[in-house]
Amino acid sequence: MTAMTTLPATLAMSGKIPGIDLHMHSKASDGALSPTELMHLCLERGLGRVALTDHDTVNGVAEARQAADELGIGLLPAAELSTQWTNIGVHVVAMMPEGEQSIIQDEHNPLRQMLDTLWEARSTRAYTIAERLERKGLTNALERARACAGGRLAIGRPHFAAALVEAGMVDDIKMAFKRYLGAGKVGDVRLHWPEFSDVVRAIVAGGGIAVLAHPLRYELTRRRLVLLLDEFMAAGGEAVELCNGHQNDDSTRDLARLLEERQLYASVGSDFHKPGGPLAPGTFSPLPRCRVAPIWTHPRLVPWIDATEASTQRIITQRQALEASYAANQHDSTKEGDA
Ligand code: AMP
Ligand code: MN
Ligand code: MN
Ligand code: MN
Repeated sequence: MTAMTTLPATLAMSGKIPGIDLHMHSKASDGALSPTELMHLCLERGLGRVALTDHDTVNGVAEARQAADELGIGLLPAAELSTQWTNIGVHVVAMMPEGEQSIIQDEHNPLRQMLDTLWEARSTRAYTIAERLERKGLTNALERARACAGGRLAIGRPHFAAALVEAGMVDDIKMAFKRYLGAGKVGDVRLHWPEFSDVVRAIVAGGGIAVLAHPLRYELTRRRLVLLLDEFMAAGGEAVELCNGHQNDDSTRDLARLLEERQLYASVGSDFHKPGGPLAPGTFSPLPRCRVAPIWTHPRLVPWIDATEASTQRIITQRQALEASYAANQHDSTKEGDA
């Protein structure tokens, strides 16, 4: 086994994990940056290993791949798939550790077929959301959402949220979700999404690793969370996002215990969408000390981890040097200010 110097082999000491982010969005779904811009930002932020996880699509991967190769960043192709489970929408990340080519090119690949299904589901869902919001007073809802999506193909709730803001029906995006688009609201349309277990099975059958996305965001009771994890595993799911963006430390520790009992791998990611928000690439809550195996020890990911170790070390070192010189400049200007 190769020594993993930038990533800890276990979470026994844990804390901040440098150089990696396995959950981010680009303009190929509801992110603000093009895949190329995103890769540049990742480099700036000292990330040498990143997964692009656009909603229901790998359309951004080819562009991201080109930029990542030029910058020396290790790109793990992935997508965040929409599903329905009981009464709620649940997301599952499909990682493609052996690359995206075999999945994208083979039209008989179950994961590729599932992505096609989800793509159609997303566009039909847009009609349903539009209809419902029109009844609430948003005229020409679909046209408005399309305009807010700025020519991109994949329309999602954030674009309807922007349309509601522009029409003056709410003050901001947050209020748009709270009143119209969030869980259980009129625009939270789940009926088009395939069943959770079917999606997990398709990911596994298609050669992906299934990672349950942000389990704490569904606000489930512990009993329902356990049920979700059990169904996930029964369908072939292997990993769970232990840290996604910022989360409560106590809940994270409790989640870690659930993963430990089930021998599920832990993944991490920022869920970055746009610059200027609370989350930048590489930002997520510190991992708790626990016996959960980090996803970078998954046998199918180890080759990618090994291949990206040298470049990640270089990128982290560059970032640290930059931070040091920035801190020194700050220090100097403070002194000038004092004088
Ligand atoms: P969709 O994939 O079209 O169902 O849209 C879901 C996306 O909406 C999530 O991935 C987030 O980017 C965004 N979102 C969900 N809830 C909120 C919220 N409360 N405020 C802002 N954005 C949200
Ligand atoms: Mn999103
Ligand atoms: Mn999600
Ligand atoms: Mn996401």
